[in-house]
Amino acid sequence: MVRPRTNIGKCIVNGCDKDAEKEMMCSKHYSRKWKYGNENFISINERYKDTDKCLVIGCNNKPDAQKLCPKHYHNFMYHKRKGNLETISEYLKKKTGDN
Ligand SMILES: [Zn+2]
Ligand SMILES: [Zn+2]
Repeated sequence: MVRPRTNIGKCIVNGCDKDAEKEMMCSKHYSRKWKYGNENFISINERYKDTDKCLVIGCNNKPDAQKLCPKHYHNFMYHKRKGNLETISEYLKKKTGDN
């Protein structure tokens, strides 16, 4: 079967209105899918620009220490003390992986 050459429309990622290029996603989200395995993943660098929310994806609490909300900061320190991780970016990757 040959795929019909129709306009494939917009990127399927929520909140993205770019034109789709591959697999119904724009090039940005498509490359993200390959990089992280999740097209909705927001890179940590982009997240750092957002200063009024905790860095943990999906957490809308106000940040306190190290741009994490008190709850996530304590959670981070808990894992750090246990030796599970060293940096906040490692913690964020772990959090993203859990979803
Ligand atoms: Zn997109
Ligand atoms: Zn948080």
